[in-house]
Amino acid sequence: MSSGVVQTLIDELGRLPGIGPKSAQRIAFHLIKMAEPDALRLSDAIVDAKTKVVFCQRCWNLAEAALCSICADDRRDDHVLCVVEEPRDVVAIERTGDFRGRYHVLHGAMSPMDGIGPEQLKIRELLVRLGDEPISEVILCTNPNLEGEATALFLARSLKVIPDLVVTRLASGLPVGGDLEYVDEVTLGRALSGRRNLDS
Ligand SMILES: [Zn+2]
Repeated sequence: MSSGVVQTLIDELGRLPGIGPKSAQRIAFHLIKMAEPDALRLSDAIVDAKTKVVFCQRCWNLAEAALCSICADDRRDDHVLCVVEEPRDVVAIERTGDFRGRYHVLHGAMSPMDGIGPEQLKIRELLVRLGDEPISEVILCTNPNLEGEATALFLARSLKVIPDLVVTRLASGLPVGGDLEYVDEVTLGRALSGRRNLDS
């Protein structure tokens, strides 16, 4: 393998998810050919995202202040909380335009094989919120795969003890084994509005 700045760029691009060696090479040569202001705008965007983005103190979504834009929006419904695995799932659900409540981001899903249990997720923080906020429904919007279902099951059991709290799960019909972020907004919107009550 050759060295030098071009190779470094190819190597770094190749570490990104979904980018194989050939794509990394193609993107690197594209960047080198780009007009300098365009390339610098991209590098600035990366630096800005890395230095200015933090996690929301309330819901753990991405934020540029103590609270994310959704938590800071007082027009949202405080009574419905959508629990998701990652900040990108918030984007997927927002895209449906069907949800006006608030979110809680777990930052992962339970996966005993990878050593990820409830303690590694933002579950304690979720329980604190359920004590502090006027939440009457929790929608479990974890991914329709093994880890997501296990996490939803665990949460459903943990939340059962909270009086008057309705716990729902996205309707079935989502592609099994997939990630919410790849589900089109119509299908996801339908799964959201057809959510089923886990108490009954
Ligand atoms: Zn937030």
